[in-house]
Amino acid sequence: MTETRIIDASDPASQKKVVKEAVDLLSAGEVVALPTETVYGLGADALNADAVAKVFAAKERPGFDPLIVHVGSYEQVDEVAEVPDNLREVVNKLMKAFWPGPLTLVLPKKDCVPDIVTSGLPTVAVRMSGHPIMKAVVRGLGNPIAAPSANRFGRISPTSASAVEKELGGRILAIVDGGACREGLESTIVRPEAGEKKPILHLLRAGPVTKELLQRFGKVERPKKSRSNEAPEAPGQLASHYAPTTPLRLLKSPDEFNPEEGRKYALLSYCGSEKAGFIDAHDWEIVEELSPGNGKLAEAAVRLFFVLRKLDESGVDEIIAEPVSETGLGVAIMDRLRRASVR
Ligand code: AMP
Ligand code: MG
Repeated sequence: MTETRIIDASDPASQKKVVKEAVDLLSAGEVVALPTETVYGLGADALNADAVAKVFAAKERPGFDPLIVHVGSYEQVDEVAEVPDNLREVVNKLMKAFWPGPLTLVLPKKDCVPDIVTSGLPTVAVRMSGHPIMKAVVRGLGNPIAAPSANRFGRISPTSASAVEKELGGRILAIVDGGACREGLESTIVRPEAGEKKPILHLLRAGPVTKELLQRFGKVERPKKSRSNEAPEAPGQLASHYAPTTPLRLLKSPDEFNPEEGRKYALLSYCGSEKAGFIDAHDWEIVEELSPGNGKLAEAAVRLFFVLRKLDESGVDEIIAEPVSETGLGVAIMDRLRRASVR
């Protein structure tokens, strides 16, 4: 067991020192959990294969699931990716519109990126985080940082330092505590491709940058769904992911709910509205709302993993989840709930 240190980054006056500590650990080939605007990431020097191997080990992540590489500048994209001439314009436009921010671009990779980072794929996923700490650490290190979400494989992504500690405490040396994540959902992943009339944007993972926002830059296409948990054609499309230990069932309507005698159920409600009928459908052990009273998708996205974790720890036998409307951010929320419900 390793002792995991929590490095408090809440005081702006100590941020330089915190960033230096994280950079020193990464330079020494260690892994560090870092805050981003989406979820906490488990970072390693992306150009150091041994360090990246520690990320896979700590997460118990299978080798076929590649990592996202964080860059600190537009120029650093060209250090890790070979942007084809016919994609240069759309890539520039996407970076300008959404970076720093929760958009990941999948591009042809350069040889300097170790195969372990990309699981042997000829492409690399790059993103530039807007979180001040992540930004400063990438710049301080000088190399890009490979950072998947800081949870054990397949589990709920962490949106706070304490959630990282529960997932990876005893397995990693340090967690930089930068407070709660602003977005709460993992980045949108897009693979741009040259199209006949306009670029095609393959949406590999729904996230905070919605289809509606992306449509200005090309034709958004969703890849075919994988139905099993085998190595996926498009990684990140694993059927089961973000899963609580407690079984979760996503229902379309309360009529589908037939409680079993003696079983304890929790309700994951959207906004606690009685209109949807779920609240009144059962004498729930516990009810948690994603957007209490309001029904705001942005709030629901921020709270989703926090609430899932809370319900998972509540000791019920099953979590019943109410659907949210599948528009805007609701697409990403429903995507996570569907995957959380597959075992
Ligand atoms: P995580 O940060 O834990 O959410 O994981 C990163 C996700 O990025 C993985 O699940 C992959 O699906 C996706 N990803 C990383 N690299 C690639 C790539 N080269 N092609 C497609 N997807 C990728
Ligand atoms: Mg993840």
